[in-house]
Amino acid sequence: MRIAIAQIIHESNTFAPHTTPLSDFRIRRGAEIVQFYSGAHNEVTGFLEGATKYGFEAVPTFCANATPSGTVQAAAFDWLADELVNQLKAAGDIDGILLSLHGAFVAENFANADAEFARRVRVAFGPKMPIVLTHDPHSSVGEAVVQNVDALVIYKTNPHIDQRERGLQAASILSGMLRGEVKPTMAYRALPMMINIVHQHTSSPPLRDLWRELTTLEQQPGVLATSMSLCYQYSDVPTMGNVVVVVTNNNQAQADAIADDLAAKLWGLREELAVHIPDVAGAVTTAMNAPAGPFVIVDIGDNVGGGSAADSTFLLAELLRQNADGWVVTLADPASVQACASAGIGATLTLQVGGKTDDMHGVPITVTGKVKCLHDGKFEERAARHGGVRWGDQGLSALLELQPNLGKQASYILLTTHRAAPMSLHQLQSVGIEPTYMKILTVKAAIAWKAAYEPIMSGFVIADTAGATQVNPRRWVYRHTRKGLWGLEGW
Ligand SMILES: [Zn+2]
Repeated sequence: MRIAIAQIIHESNTFAPHTTPLSDFRIRRGAEIVQFYSGAHNEVTGFLEGATKYGFEAVPTFCANATPSGTVQAAAFDWLADELVNQLKAAGDIDGILLSLHGAFVAENFANADAEFARRVRVAFGPKMPIVLTHDPHSSVGEAVVQNVDALVIYKTNPHIDQRERGLQAASILSGMLRGEVKPTMAYRALPMMINIVHQHTSSPPLRDLWRELTTLEQQPGVLATSMSLCYQYSDVPTMGNVVVVVTNNNQAQADAIADDLAAKLWGLREELAVHIPDVAGAVTTAMNAPAGPFVIVDIGDNVGGGSAADSTFLLAELLRQNADGWVVTLADPASVQACASAGIGATLTLQVGGKTDDMHGVPITVTGKVKCLHDGKFEERAARHGGVRWGDQGLSALLELQPNLGKQASYILLTTHRAAPMSLHQLQSVGIEPTYMKILTVKAAIAWKAAYEPIMSGFVIADTAGATQVNPRRWVYRHTRKGLWGLEGW
């Protein structure tokens, strides 16, 4: 028995000013997929391990991944969809398909691109081919995707540290189907609500208890998978919002009952899901008054993992204005990296950093500092962190040290070539920063950073910064979402 494995991952921020071309996707095929995902924590790692565990031959075919960014260009979608089907066909005789799609892929020509990928695979292989799909919970799950696969499994954690586990779960469902022991039945419920990203932490209230229940429910006989999406609010598409998906073994009534119960419980959490966060000045003051460090300020308007520019300067400007010390700010700024590289280690130079990508993330800020470190940007993370990736690459990077006033602690600006979401402390440690020595750490993220930073931080505050991933829905104009969606109008 042979199981084909494929993945296409893109989280499309439809508010980002630039569209995403095919060249932004990293394509991996065959043995390269095995090499990249071995020892990692990705769902593809789980697929590969699952095939072996359940006695099947894994046939890795095609993986395409891009960092979250704007709507994907039509030509890129067309090529990816064709290549997905062609590479699955090229795998020869297969008995089942394990497919990993993000769930928030928006293309210029398909608002719900993941459903279209799934539909084309279904059309190409026919109704009898077992297809089990995984999604990221930051997804806009339409009913169309559920109709084109046999089972859908969504990660249960945010930060996402259970991707490998979900991959194994998908492989387990598929193997049950191939042995003739499992016939998946699914219930799908779309709720007229949106959980704001500031509350999308699955291991703290208000979501914790309900998300724990998802795991508990899977202990019931006949329950194969219980999933809820957190939703992806930077997507102005009709399917944006929370969904519940329950997969049972040939028992539609059981799936329906569990789905209705979960939907009612999530709807009942609305009061606790209201949003109250300080502005930038208030967040910096809070961090400066923290009794101990490192205290984390979350620059949620520039959430790199959500598709923003990674060079927002609102927080940097405020840290300088309030004379804070002992802080670190990371900016993707290839031009400044080059200037530091040309000047060399030990050189002192004045630069205009950040705020260069678009007009949503502040203006360049003039700073003077010393080039403390130059680094190729490659680092290794062995623990289970958001994204499940072991090998990170920030591109050529420069650490700029700002000279402190007498009695104060030095502050640092980490300048990277690539946009890099703060998933790992090694992003700082690899350039010589010991995070636990700092008073204030800043992260351009929403929730994902917590897996790495929570073990060492003294506390955190989310700043209501502007940017491509700002959380205040009143700053956006939504044109395509469903009317009356709670969370867009209830904040
Ligand atoms: Zn996600």
